[in-house]
Parts: sequence; C-alpha cells; structure tokens
Amino acid sequence: MRRLLLKSLFLRPVTIAAPGAAEAALDEVGRALEERVRRLLGRSLTIREVDAGSCNGCELEIHALNNVLYDLERFGFRFVASPRHADVLLVTGPVTANMREALLRTYLATPDPKWVIAVGDCAVDGGLFAGSYAVSGGVSAIVPVDLHIRGCPPSPVQLLEGLLALLQSEETKNRA
Ligand code: SF4
Repeated sequence: MRRLLLKSLFLRPVTIAAPGAAEAALDEVGRALEERVRRLLGRSLTIREVDAGSCNGCELEIHALNNVLYDLERFGFRFVASPRHADVLLVTGPVTANMREALLRTYLATPDPKWVIAVGDCAVDGGLFAGSYAVSGGVSAIVPVDLHIRGCPPSPVQLLEGLLALLQSEETKNRA
C-alpha cells in the first residue's frame, strides 16, 4: 500500500494531448461553413437529428459536434428539437420497420426548403443490417436524400465536411 501511495505521488497525470492538426482543420472547415451559411440563408442553420434505427455509434459522433472541442454553435449551427424548426435532417441508421413512419412524418413536418443528409454506412444502404427482416433499407428508400456521408461511424470533421459539401452544391445550384 505504501509503495502504491509513493508511486502515485511521483506519477505524472494521465492526460491526452490536444490534437493539433485536427483542430486547425476543424477551424478551417468551420469558418468556411459559417461563411456559406450566412451567404445562403443570412442566419444560422438548424439541424434535427433523426435516429432511424442506428446502433448509436453515429449518434456519439454527432453529439461530439456539441462538445467543447468541436462546439458547432460557434459556427452558426444549432440542433433543434422540432423538425418544424429545422433546415436539415441528419438521419442515421438503417431505417427500421418501426421508424419508417416516424421518419416519413418528420420529413413531411420539416418546412421547405429542406435538406436530408444520410449519416453512416447503414443510412446509405442498411450497412451491417441490410437484409434483416426488421430493416426497410437505407434512408433514400423512404425519403429523398441530398447527401450521403459514409463511415462507420463518420468522424465529427467528416460530418462538417459533408455539411460544407452540401452548402457548396446549393450555392452552385443557386448561381446556375
Ligand atoms: S454506420 Fe456504423 S456506427 Fe453508424 S449506425 Fe451503422 S453500425 Fe452503427
């Protein structure tokens, strides 16, 4: 016991170094997003997350967007509780039979113009769960999808890059 106490006195705290390069990338992507959203909407962009049957791995990465490292709100993005207040639906998971109707209703309740982003490999085509009796398919089998972000799960920076790609393509469409 004494040895353990002495050892703990001289041990350095176990901490993880901050990820330098990722932080720079995050800042760059975040600022680009902020600029585009201001140009496109003239206000913040609101997001409603819909878990259509995921394993929650994708949700962990989406939740990370709100933590102190990513802090999405500083770039003018907000998660909202109601689809009636949302510009973007961020949908995860294969769409299960139980969530099919809920997803459709959420889509219909979201005012136009709206964008749907399917997040994670499962949301593209059912992923690991494709073919299950309980799964209706990927998100595009139920509602129109504007962008797929692949990964199992995609990282928070990949999610931000996906949002940026969506806004870029909308800007291009508007100019045409
Ligand atoms: S893509 Fe991966 S992390 Fe996301 S819901 Fe499917 S299995 Fe889970």
